[in-house]
Amino acid sequence: MRMSGQTQMNLIQRCAECQRLWWKYSITMVKHIKLEDKLQVAAAARESTRVTELKVLVESAAQQRTHARQAISHHEQEAHGARGAKEHSRAMLAA
Ligand SMILES: [Zn+2]
Repeated sequence: MRMSGQTQMNLIQRCAECQRLWWKYSITMVKHIKLEDKLQVAAAARESTRVTELKVLVESAAQQRTHARQAISHHEQEAHGARGAKEHSRAMLAA
């Protein structure tokens, strides 16, 4: 995962809630990526039952990832102001 900029790192280090939310997001992101990998392997092997199972898991992981990202945006707007949140959203898109 790519973290952008010194400002963002400083912000995360200053705020315990940011640290917690970014940690949570990184876990959901890794989980989502791993499941997508498994899905691709299963699809390549034409394991249709496994593909169906994994699609449900991937969808669920994607939702958790989105929620975690929204929680970061929400916290940043509440705690650090809208401008910071905007910068962070760009950083997330680049990640
Ligand atoms: Zn914060």
